[in-house]
Amino acid sequence: MGDQAGPYQVAISQVQRVGELLGLDQGMIDLMTRPKREFTVNFPVTMDDGTIKVFTGFRVQHNFARGPCKGGVRYHPAVTLDEVRALAMWMTWKCATVGLPYGGSKGGVICDPKKMSRGELERMTRRYASEIMPIIGPHVDIPAPDMYTDSQVMAWIMDTYSMNVGYSVPGVVTGKPLSLGGSEGREEATSRGLTYCVREAMAMAGLRSSEATAVVQGFGNVGWNAARLLRDELGLKIVALSDSSGGIYDPAGLDPVSVHEHKRLTGSVMGYPGATSITNDELLELDCTVLVPAALENVITSANADRIGARIVAEGANGPTTPEADQILYEKGILLIPDILCNAGGVTVSYFEWVQDLQFLFWSNAEIKNRLNDIMTYAFARVYATAGAREVDMRTAAYLLAVGEVVQATKLRGIYP
Ligand code: GLU
Repeated sequence: MGDQAGPYQVAISQVQRVGELLGLDQGMIDLMTRPKREFTVNFPVTMDDGTIKVFTGFRVQHNFARGPCKGGVRYHPAVTLDEVRALAMWMTWKCATVGLPYGGSKGGVICDPKKMSRGELERMTRRYASEIMPIIGPHVDIPAPDMYTDSQVMAWIMDTYSMNVGYSVPGVVTGKPLSLGGSEGREEATSRGLTYCVREAMAMAGLRSSEATAVVQGFGNVGWNAARLLRDELGLKIVALSDSSGGIYDPAGLDPVSVHEHKRLTGSVMGYPGATSITNDELLELDCTVLVPAALENVITSANADRIGARIVAEGANGPTTPEADQILYEKGILLIPDILCNAGGVTVSYFEWVQDLQFLFWSNAEIKNRLNDIMTYAFARVYATAGAREVDMRTAAYLLAVGEVVQATKLRGIYP
């Protein structure tokens, strides 16, 4: 399989390999790779100019052997069913890696949210939520934010679902605003979990934070909070940042808070005073201690893996590294913290939010941080130990554990009827 393979092909090949390492028969491997349910909906939205536009959306439920399905909803012009299948499958492994009682799912709508008004986004979100209503619910499948969806979008989904059933159901989505049953710490949770993983990885690699630098690709929710927390909590110097329009570099260190403000005012990190412009490709190859890809899939490939200059790669994005690149990074001795571990802090605090919603009892920010720290530290140690014991890279180790858990749950439940 080359680097050009789509994300679903990549996701299948990862499980095929690990399934063989686990000695699974082909039927079980097929069961682990095929999504349980795939839902495609085409639906109309009245645009601001009065015209009707038909949008296509998806919700894929990959597996629920271990519990209700869980996963985000992505709004992006390039969303495809195959991408959503891969992302749903990765959610299954992610939840199993950190021990959450969930299966995996994902949703997406093909649209360009940057070109839509707030009213159009609201109408599209409410109609999409109505269309997928038959297969979501607090005990069935619980959506959450992903690329270009946020707490406001979750509030609309929660309201639409609630209006249809006739009473308020906060537990139907996570990533909601605090006033609607959202959780303390959810917004920064993915990046906080990543920061805990980087802390553990640096300790294992014997790297000291006083001399360490970080480079972050992507300046959305995950990238921006990762840059902020890596600096504020671990003391790393942030030498480069980027968004979809390009990157900025300053060996003396960038202040993520002030770059965030610059992006808020100008729409991009580009043109930040005092920094040198670089391309996203150049940014990935910079010499640094920690590289955080926090944008799209397939950015570290066989074409650039050999030139990655980081000691640690911490995957904030889902699927940023191709299998070919994984092999090259492993041979170079780079410690890669795989997405299904590294960015699992988001779904972990989503789980906390859901538990709080079901109990109508809310926790403090300190409690959220403590529990997240415990879960991430334990999951990291387990994956790291497995990688050492089986002499495999961290991604393979995480997959061995995660696929193993789902297979075990499947066997215990048995094949119905
Ligand atoms: N979209 C996030 C992810 O890819 C979070 C999903 C969730 O919280 O359910 O992990």
